[in-house]
Amino acid sequence: MLVHAYGAHAADKPLESLQITRRTPGAHDVQIDIAFCGVCHSDLHQVRAEWEGTQFPCVPGHEIVGRVSAVGAHVSDFKIGDLVGVGCIVDSCKHCADCEAGFENYCDGMVGTYNAPTKDEPGWTLGGYSQKIVVHERFALRIRHAEDQLAAVAPLLCAGITTYSPLRHWEAGPGKKVGVVGIGGLGHMGIKLAHAMGAHVVAFTTSDSKREAAKALGADEVVVSRNPGEMAAHAQSFDFILNTVAAPHDLDAFLALLKRDGTMTLVGAPATPHPSPNVFNFITKRRSIAGSMIGGIPETQEMLDFCAEHGIVADIELIRADEINEAYERMLKGDVKYRFVIDTATLAA
Ligand code: NAP
Ligand code: ZN
Repeated sequence: MLVHAYGAHAADKPLESLQITRRTPGAHDVQIDIAFCGVCHSDLHQVRAEWEGTQFPCVPGHEIVGRVSAVGAHVSDFKIGDLVGVGCIVDSCKHCADCEAGFENYCDGMVGTYNAPTKDEPGWTLGGYSQKIVVHERFALRIRHAEDQLAAVAPLLCAGITTYSPLRHWEAGPGKKVGVVGIGGLGHMGIKLAHAMGAHVVAFTTSDSKREAAKALGADEVVVSRNPGEMAAHAQSFDFILNTVAAPHDLDAFLALLKRDGTMTLVGAPATPHPSPNVFNFITKRRSIAGSMIGGIPETQEMLDFCAEHGIVADIELIRADEINEAYERMLKGDVKYRFVIDTATLAA
């Protein structure tokens, strides 16, 4: 079936209206009428070919929420009309050790929601800046928030799980001092989630203008990372730092803030490498740097339920599809509080 979408025909071309094909739902598929789709910095990296291997046309979008509009014959957990979400994963091998453990995000056969190989036309996946999507039922998530919060739930599907998963894995909670670096789409969710988990949260920003806003999100303290004096006041004090910055930067400045055995986990995925950190910053305090990629399907459902229970949604700015190119420019300037979300009703206009 043909549906309206928004995407780009080349890395140096703006996104524009186009039509794409969605498959007829198979026995285990769920077809979703997309209501809203969040705008992740990864969408921009991919569509501008800042990461390798972008196929064109490229339709980004992996923060998808909407309603089930058809189900395959063998689908029992979802019915027409259910509120559901789809994040960064639309398929995986479903039988490797990672899939068995619910870590589809680490399966070698993971199929990303856009730009990943598929049998569907045109041979690679096309994302959520579109009217409909069809996915295997395993990759549909149940949304328990109130329907009027749906647009603000969309960013949980990537920004939410990408911060929730490492915060849980490195045990953010009462008695732990947790830093969140970069207050963008991911970072603002990291602050809300770490606060809800009971940690003492310190937000790090390069933007003086976000100082008060970060406190309103739940940060106990805010540090403007460009000020060495403010940074030094937190030396050797953190259990865990979640670094969401989308550009290469000096990691040593943050490593020095970790306690003995502290970890800094990188979730930002800049197009070019960070300068290598100083080995002495690891060995002198047995510190670690780690990475983390989104989260598996069971943990994504756990995160959605945690957010519904704690009244957590993203802070969003709703846009029309034809405002997406301008939104990308504003995202690059850090000028969004804190996530753009496309109203997909505007795709057909
Ligand atoms: P975003 O909304 O653009 O936020 C990134 C924030 O980083 C900015 O708001 C800014 O915060 C800070 N920043 C940007 N450039 C900087 C620079 N040159 N130096 C220092 N700080 C800078 O992006 P996002 O959607 O949150 O995504 C962040 C990164 O995570 C992207 O690279 C994205 O591709 C990646 N990502 C990874 C995963 C994963 O699974 N690991 C999932 C989703 C996204 P301040 O203004 O507060 O400094
Ligand atoms: Zn994302």
